[in-house]
Amino acid sequence: MLVTLQEILKDTREKRYAVGLFNCVTLEMTRGILLAAEELRSPVIIGPAQILLPPASLEDYCDMMLGMARRARVPVALHFDHGFDPDLVERAIALGFSSVMYDCSLLPIDENIRRTKDMVKKAHAAGCSLEAEIGHVGSNERSVGARIADSVYTDPEDARLFCAETGCDALAVAIGTAHGLYDTPPALSFDALRHIRDLCDTPLVLHGGSGLSEEDFRRCVLDGISKINIFTHNNLAAARAAVQSFSEKTGAFELMSPIEAAVRQETMRHIRMFGSEGRA
Ligand SMILES: [Zn+2]
Repeated sequence: MLVTLQEILKDTREKRYAVGLFNCVTLEMTRGILLAAEELRSPVIIGPAQILLPPASLEDYCDMMLGMARRARVPVALHFDHGFDPDLVERAIALGFSSVMYDCSLLPIDENIRRTKDMVKKAHAAGCSLEAEIGHVGSNERSVGARIADSVYTDPEDARLFCAETGCDALAVAIGTAHGLYDTPPALSFDALRHIRDLCDTPLVLHGGSGLSEEDFRRCVLDGISKINIFTHNNLAAARAAVQSFSEKTGAFELMSPIEAAVRQETMRHIRMFGSEGRA
């Protein structure tokens, strides 16, 4: 069933688990994620991101994923990730996404607050949740569509002010992760995370989760992370499954099941690490 981001995250901090956002771009990936969530009775968040749009339109993704989210036997939020362009974010809201991320993290904080506050009103009027970001989660070199390499750590006092001013439903924080593949494991600042958590009631989001250790995920959840974003890991698992299953006799159709199975398996592994198994 389709639910908002606000609804899907409401118990996370108190009950100490996080819900995964598994970005998806194909039917096989989307099915693999939803089957994993149903099998483990876990709430889940799915959806594309602005940088993943060129191969299909927002409408194409929405037509496929919205129906699948509604039919799922567990709560599903359909999320438009990292919308930088306000027109696209408004389009996602109008299409029926139950959650959008409006990313103004590269702008000065005053401008980020002003724009986010305005978009929160539009999202809430349509029954949609909104995620924002302050500080900036940068990108590793091989990240898809990397915009900027450097991260800017989130200042806890800025986070408190930002949440109070904007009324956003979730806040992405920069505590040492980056988007894409890591060459060396990142050093996370758990002190900074706890400080932000102590000042903000708003659910906190960890971006750049692909490749973190199980211990890092568990500590992040214990220290206040409510939502964890995964794309790179499933994206690679899907491609690897396609390559391994390919032979001269296979076509695209024969690759669908192996891709779905690989994404399902990786998603189940992450759901268990995030502690959301059995929460649906
Ligand atoms: Zn991100």
